[in-house]
Amino acid sequence: MNQSQHVPKVVFSFFGPPGSGKGTLAERLKAELGFEVLSTGNLCRLHIAQKTTLGEQLEELVHKGHLIPDALISAMVQEWLEEQIKLGKPVVLDGYPRTAGQATALMEFLKIHDGCHFRVVFVELADDEIVRRLLGRRVCSDNKCQAVYSMAFAGTACERCGALLVKRVDDKEEVIRERLRLYPLYRETLFKMYRDLGVHIEELDVAGMSMEEVFNTFKATL
Ligand SMILES: [Zn+2]
Repeated sequence: MNQSQHVPKVVFSFFGPPGSGKGTLAERLKAELGFEVLSTGNLCRLHIAQKTTLGEQLEELVHKGHLIPDALISAMVQEWLEEQIKLGKPVVLDGYPRTAGQATALMEFLKIHDGCHFRVVFVELADDEIVRRLLGRRVCSDNKCQAVYSMAFAGTACERCGALLVKRVDDKEEVIRERLRLYPLYRETLFKMYRDLGVHIEELDVAGMSMEEVFNTFKATL
């Protein structure tokens, strides 16, 4: 059954600290409610692999070690969004927009796509709980599979491929804390950006929640 038809026409942007579970939530929305999820990193890699016009420009910038300009990222995202809107798919943008330039471009794009709601969801979780969760997780040792298991999973083998579950080498407290160190600055930049644009931010506090509870809490807001 295609459940996406029960979900209103909506573009979500998720942001939150690394390890807050926003990626996992997005994946479940995709698997169970027919959402399409966009990661700009994956989209860049796809364009480069398919040697599209945008892909060739991207490859040159990456090759020279230059930053990818907002306009190029936005062009790529909008082309992708256009397709999803045509298909009537609800969408999650994971980590986009991340600059004021990208946000302004997205607002302009949505203005000409009537009836498309834009909702910003800020997934909130304290550093200590992120550290605790990441220290407890294990990943599939098969590089082609890379399934991730939370500490709630008691098994020792991957449910998808049967390979052994291992801890990631960089899931160490000091590495996790270092990854989180710059996050407050990023969060404040986004808060200010959305305030300036007059966009409401919905907070999803996931402290103490299992993935199931996060999913159900979010689903209730649709
Ligand atoms: Zn596996």
